[in-house]
Amino acid sequence: MDWLKTTKQLCQLYEIKPARSRGQNFLIKEEVYEKIVKAADLKADDIVLEIGSGLGFLTTRLAKIVKKVVAVELDDKLAEVLQTGLMSQGIKNVEVVNGDILKFRISDFGFRIYKVVANLPYNITSIFLRKFLSAENKPEMMVLMLQKEVAERIVARPPKMSLLAVSVQFYSRPEIIDIVPANCFWPQPEVDSAIIKLAVETNGRSSVQNEEKFFRMVKIGFSAKRKMLKNNLGAGFHITSAEAEKKVKEAGFNPKIRAQELLVEDWVKLFGEFI
Ligand code: SAH
Repeated sequence: MDWLKTTKQLCQLYEIKPARSRGQNFLIKEEVYEKIVKAADLKADDIVLEIGSGLGFLTTRLAKIVKKVVAVELDDKLAEVLQTGLMSQGIKNVEVVNGDILKFRISDFGFRIYKVVANLPYNITSIFLRKFLSAENKPEMMVLMLQKEVAERIVARPPKMSLLAVSVQFYSRPEIIDIVPANCFWPQPEVDSAIIKLAVETNGRSSVQNEEKFFRMVKIGFSAKRKMLKNNLGAGFHITSAEAEKKVKEAGFNPKIRAQELLVEDWVKLFGEFI
């Protein structure tokens, strides 16, 4: 199948002009579809929430393997193309939802255990991650296509941690499955992409009772980029530098440590000094 040709033909037929503002870059490489599907480790009884289904090439693939796919697509025309395509192929286990994923409550979908698979519109990446990872009803796993730089920041280790890395690693074990060059999409975006897999876990965060408070502390820790952690904590919590240093030491760290040098479990230890 020539995905580039098919994509262009469908867009012409339905008068779709891919909009950058909606992150409409369609994947046109067979191998990449296969990698996404493989990474999601799909089982016959899985329920998959697909976000930004576009022309539906990934959707139909998923539908052939799993029990049910719920495909959320913002664009009216694309949702229509998908619906028509599914009918013509006799695929009945896909529910097309025409709307903005950010406006739904996850409980609206009515499932308990599910996986998320998405070639995301890159402009919604961080808000999307926050929504799904902090949700009460979290997916068991997410396989996402993201901007390469963002994927690399997510899987970073000390001394390259960031608020984003701590946030994602608090809830999941992230792994880059593959780098996907810009020429695997049409229209070709300006940046390269990466497939990332997030296995949602509870280990790291089980002892944190109040997640909001925890992240308030982490944000304070990262508030001024190159400063020592104790200085940021002092300023953010309105405590003296000596008090902040004491907390850092009592949590078991060098008083000169910086926020980007701490693992998730280190933040959890530090949190113990603030409750
Ligand atoms: N999965 C397709 C398309 C990826 S492009 C493929 O791999 O080829 C990203 C898709 O997300 C576009 O179809 C775009 O219309 C859709 N989209 C953008 N913002 C969205 C939102 N907030 N909610 C749901 N879908 C969105």
